[in-house]
Amino acid sequence: MIRLDGKQTSATLKKEIAEEVEKMVANGQKRPHLAAILVGHDGASETYVGSKVKSCEQVGFTSTLLRYENTVSEEELLQKIEEINLNDDIDGLIVQLPLPAHISEEKVTEKIDPRKDVDGFHPQNMGRLALGSPCFVSATPHGIMELIARYNIETSGKKCVVIGRSNIVGRPMSILMSQKGIDTTVTLCHSRTQNLKEICLEADIIIAALGKAEFLKGDMVKEGATVIDVGITRVPSDKTKSGWKLLGDVDFAEVAPKCSHITPVPGGVGPMTIASLLFNTLKAAKKEVYSK
Ligand code: NAD
Repeated sequence: MIRLDGKQTSATLKKEIAEEVEKMVANGQKRPHLAAILVGHDGASETYVGSKVKSCEQVGFTSTLLRYENTVSEEELLQKIEEINLNDDIDGLIVQLPLPAHISEEKVTEKIDPRKDVDGFHPQNMGRLALGSPCFVSATPHGIMELIARYNIETSGKKCVVIGRSNIVGRPMSILMSQKGIDTTVTLCHSRTQNLKEICLEADIIIAALGKAEFLKGDMVKEGATVIDVGITRVPSDKTKSGWKLLGDVDFAEVAPKCSHITPVPGGVGPMTIASLLFNTLKAAKKEVYSK
C-alpha cells in the first residue's frame, strides 16, 4: 500500500511555483498577486484564508486580504469585486465561502472576472471544464489530478467511482476523470444512489467527497483499489489539545490494507488544494488560460 503524500507533493508543487516566480521577477515581470475576500469571523474560513495568504508569501506572490463584517451589503461586495476585476495589478481573486445568507453566492461567483477566477467556480470556467477547453480547474479537483499524475496511477480504461456531486468537488472530479487522456469510466454517486456498496466494489479508483466521517468501510472496497479521501469532518477528541481532530470520509484503518494507493487525512488532499490555488494564480498571472 502506497500513501499518497499530499504534504510532500504540495511542497514540491509550491517549490516549482516559487522557482517560476523568481524567473518572472528576473525577467522584469511583476509578482503574481492574489486577492482574497473574507466576510465575517467564521473560524474555519479564517483558518483557510489565513493559510492561503501565508502560502502566497511562501512562493513569492503578493497577496491582499480584504475583510468585511457580516453586515456588509451584497452591493458593496459586488462593487469591490468589480473594482478588483478592473485592477490590472491583481491577477486572481477568491471570495471565501460560505457567505452570510443575505448575500447571493451565485451573484458573487458570477461577478468575478473568469480570467481572475482562480477558484474555478465561475460558470464560464465550469462550462469550459465540461467542454475540455482551457480553464481554471477548481483547486481541490486539480490537486487530486496532480496527485494521481505525480504518483503515476494508471487511469486509462479503469472504473472510477466518485461519491458526492457538489459543484466544488464531486461534479468537476467526475468530469476530469472522464476526460480524454485520463479515460476512466466514471460513476457519479450521491445521496440517492442505490446499491452504493456494490458500485464501490467494482471500482478501481474511489474518490470519496461526501463529508461523512469514516463512511467508506473495508467491505466496500476491492483489493488493489486506489482510494482518494476528500472529506474533512471535525470530531471531538480527548487526545488533542484543541479538543477535536479531523476525520476523512474513509475508515482508513479498515480500507488502507486493501488499497494499492490511499490518501491520508490529514496530509492528503487538503495540502494539495492550497498548492493548486497558487498554481491557478500563477496561470492567471501568465495569462495562460485566457490570452487577454
Ligand atoms: P457537499 O455537502 O456540498 O456535498 C456532499 C455530497 O455528498 C452531495 O452531493 C451528496 O449527495 C453526497 N452524499 C451525502 N451523503 C451521501 C451518502 N450517504 N451516500 C452517497 N452520497 C452522499 O460537500 P462538499 O463541499 O463536496 O465537501 C465534501 C467533503 O469534502 C466535506 O467533508 C468537505 O469538508 C471536504 N472538502 C475538503 C476539501 C479539501 O481541500 N480537502 C475541499 C473541499 C471539501
